[in-house]
Amino acid sequence: MEPIQELIKLSVHKIIDFILRTGSIDSSFYDAAPMYMGAAIHRKIQKDMDDSYKKEISLKLETAIGNIPVEIRGRADGIITDPMSGAITIDEIKTTTLPLDYIYAQHAQHLGQGKCYAYMYMQTLENPPETIGVQLTYFQLETEEIRRHHWTFTNIEIEAFFTDLLRQYGVWLRLEQEWKITRNNSIASLTFPFPSYRKGQRELAVAAYRTISAGKKLYACAPTGIGKTLSSLFPAIKAMGEGKTAPLFYLTAKTVTRTVAEEALKLMAESGLRFKTIILRAKEKICINTECVCASNHCANAKGHYDRVNAAVLDVIENNDIITPAETTFYARKHQVCPHEMALDAALWCDLIVGDYNHVFHPDAYLHRFFNNEERDYIFLIDEAHNLTDRVRDMYSAEISKNALSQVRNALKDKDSVSKNLRKNLRLINTYLSDLRKEHGEQRNHVSPEPDMVFLAFIKMAAAAASEWLVLKKAHELHNKIVELYFEMSSFIMVAELYDAHYTSITEFYGHDVKITLFCLNPSKIIANGLARAKSAILFSATLTPLPYYRDILGGTDEDFMVSLPSPFDPGRLQLVSHCGISTKYRDRESSYAPIVQTIYQSIANQGNYLVFFPSYEYMHKVYEIFTAKYPEINTLLQTTDMSEDDRAGFLTRFDSSNLSTLVGFTVLGGIFSEGIDLKGDRLIGAIIVGVGIPKISLRHDLIRDYFNKQNRQGYDYAYVFPGMNKVLQAAGRVIRTETDAGIVVLIDSRYATAQYKGLFPEHWKCMQTVWS
Ligand code: SF4
Repeated sequence: MEPIQELIKLSVHKIIDFILRTGSIDSSFYDAAPMYMGAAIHRKIQKDMDDSYKKEISLKLETAIGNIPVEIRGRADGIITDPMSGAITIDEIKTTTLPLDYIYAQHAQHLGQGKCYAYMYMQTLENPPETIGVQLTYFQLETEEIRRHHWTFTNIEIEAFFTDLLRQYGVWLRLEQEWKITRNNSIASLTFPFPSYRKGQRELAVAAYRTISAGKKLYACAPTGIGKTLSSLFPAIKAMGEGKTAPLFYLTAKTVTRTVAEEALKLMAESGLRFKTIILRAKEKICINTECVCASNHCANAKGHYDRVNAAVLDVIENNDIITPAETTFYARKHQVCPHEMALDAALWCDLIVGDYNHVFHPDAYLHRFFNNEERDYIFLIDEAHNLTDRVRDMYSAEISKNALSQVRNALKDKDSVSKNLRKNLRLINTYLSDLRKEHGEQRNHVSPEPDMVFLAFIKMAAAAASEWLVLKKAHELHNKIVELYFEMSSFIMVAELYDAHYTSITEFYGHDVKITLFCLNPSKIIANGLARAKSAILFSATLTPLPYYRDILGGTDEDFMVSLPSPFDPGRLQLVSHCGISTKYRDRESSYAPIVQTIYQSIANQGNYLVFFPSYEYMHKVYEIFTAKYPEINTLLQTTDMSEDDRAGFLTRFDSSNLSTLVGFTVLGGIFSEGIDLKGDRLIGAIIVGVGIPKISLRHDLIRDYFNKQNRQGYDYAYVFPGMNKVLQAAGRVIRTETDAGIVVLIDSRYATAQYKGLFPEHWKCMQTVWS
């Protein structure tokens, strides 16, 4: 093999985290503060130091591992030079939610990080001292207590440590570099895996490539049939072959859509592409135990996991190009490690990570391994991006209810001091919320632009008490319940830290219960921050319309690109009818049932399978009763509120192209059958959509409306009309899935005749026929 000339950039974190881990997965709950909180706490600690403390010192070292030139970067939180003796100490600050008595100061990774910075700093000095100090500063998040641990090392000890660390990492680095040559050679000769592009596909691929090259974001409205996955993956892979990007992330809202990316990769692999890809699953879904309790006394795979995991990762990486969840499970069992953690480690050596929005945007579950350093060469390909706003809003809103706290308090009977302390703190919250209830009399809710700081202080104390309890009571029967409660409280604390003008605080009173919610009104800034973890992002969906709204709400700026592509399908294969003589507004519903039944009957004139979508279960049931009574000979299916995955699959199985009679499925708009289902050919020949999809008027939607109105944006449209119309477009999109499909889409609502709604129709809906009767 030729010597590798390219300078490889590495971070101290990346090397340390991978090489120095040992022992078991034993944090039954999360023990480190999220990164953005960590940064604020660092600043707080650093501010209190005197002039001998130099903060946030960037360090860089150029060296070689074997024949591979590397540049190692890191940033010491502080470097202290004693004004009297001149002694140097590297300070490494760690924030934790664990009580400080349970922190092991010798934590190998933290100390190793400090030692690396010590070595790197020594290299910058003309006359390095004989010895250097390393200090670990631990900050307890809830109590704000600080504890420091100090070591002194000789120059020789520090150098020996660093050299040995690089020797161990060299095995992995060589593997990675050899793989890059194989991969890039295969990319160079890769051609588009079809003889020709579909209509719109080439435009999307070109726009994606230009966006990646320019380091921007692209918001693409690309109708079904264009082949969005391939059109975004292919140029991104080509860009990687040209050295324009580090790993790619293909992010989806649902597990099922990840298989589309897997299929696209397999297709390109058949054309000779070598590309390490991993398909991630949520921890609970990939866990090999019936109960997902990540502690060494509950899970054999958790016990000693870190002692075995690197061998497992090497095995899975060396033997697979595409690592599906099945492969992950197989290798995890073979090496007796946790499949979830092993997959996340394996991802570090992959070219493409296929995962959930959570893996980039979630405040806790984002991939720390990738995004806790300064590398920004990633590309995000975000599928079905219209879902991202609500998902991120949920991730960054938090709520605590009095009843949930009381249940735990009442169940916890133990008399020891740690349990008593937790109970006492939960009681304080209970009393506070009961007083609040009395104070607000008959009021059903109270909205405030500011969070309740007294309540927050109580929650912080209770979270500290819960974390202490959890450390000591790992085998307690209430352990899982208190882990859950602890997560709720720490999520609340985390959101309170982020709370700004884009939030509002809601207190709701239901009988004896009181719920306090920190509600994210506008998640666009949070989305923008998440997208900033990458160099470039392509956000695409068949229903990203109106595009300027989506660019705004999905963290874009005027500098980012937008593209709207026409449908590749023959418009003549879709019959579009809007019945504008029927009002489905709440006040008119009673009188709409009979005409809707009649319209459904007229619309299903051709024998085949149809779906009817309603704005609510209640509305659906009313129409269903009348329809089935009037037309008992027609086969019908009804969506129910609590359908399991098996029920859902069973429902869809009934949509068979060989059905000899008509079948009508009654479903709810925005539910499990209106998005993400692919009933090709004659499995579905029609969709009838009742209403314009606007969400039910609610306090939260009204708050969103008011917030955007204050921002001089169209509040009602942002809160109600655009999200509603998106559901309509998604439901209508179930009918034509391939170029040979044909069918009918019927819209029922008088508002479809208005200029406002007509303006939201996609280009290929222009031939809509309007019926007034
Ligand atoms: S196998 Fe399951 S329970 Fe065990 S550590 Fe992994 S996710 Fe947790």
